[in-house]
Amino acid sequence: MADTVTGGCQCGRVRYAVVIDTDEAYLCHCRMCQRATGGVSIALKGVTRADLTWTTCAPDRYPSSPIANRGFCSACGTPLTFEFADDEAPGLDLTVGSFDDPYRFRPTSHFAIESWHDSWLNTRGLLGKRSEDNPSTRDRWMKVVGKLPE
Ligand SMILES: [Zn+2]
Ligand SMILES: [Zn+2]
Repeated sequence: MADTVTGGCQCGRVRYAVVIDTDEAYLCHCRMCQRATGGVSIALKGVTRADLTWTTCAPDRYPSSPIANRGFCSACGTPLTFEFADDEAPGLDLTVGSFDDPYRFRPTSHFAIESWHDSWLNTRGLLGKRSEDNPSTRDRWMKVVGKLPE
């Protein structure tokens, strides 16, 4: 069922609205995605270019490889898109974490598994701690903002 969802960068300068048909997303483990985000992988949601509207301003872009560009916010650095460099490509990917409701998406596949970090794939059994249980983070939030982040 088609649904219009929204998202944007951390500072709010770049915002978008996009029509999606499914909640399916994927993880890319390629080295370009690792470098582009500083993470071990990146969660991406494929969308149709014609269904995407930049509601504030378009993202800045840079060529992350000879075949692709990446959109980001030059004010805050949030990675926003992966796009093939040929403008004719009908689709592009949006970073799952940039959606206002990233929790709706579910991963359905991995890509570029030749460079995945095997030891980071299944971390479910590791000790987990909530943010508010970490005094060095919690106390700073309470002192500066007066509440914890959402
Ligand atoms: Zn920003
Ligand atoms: Zn990738």
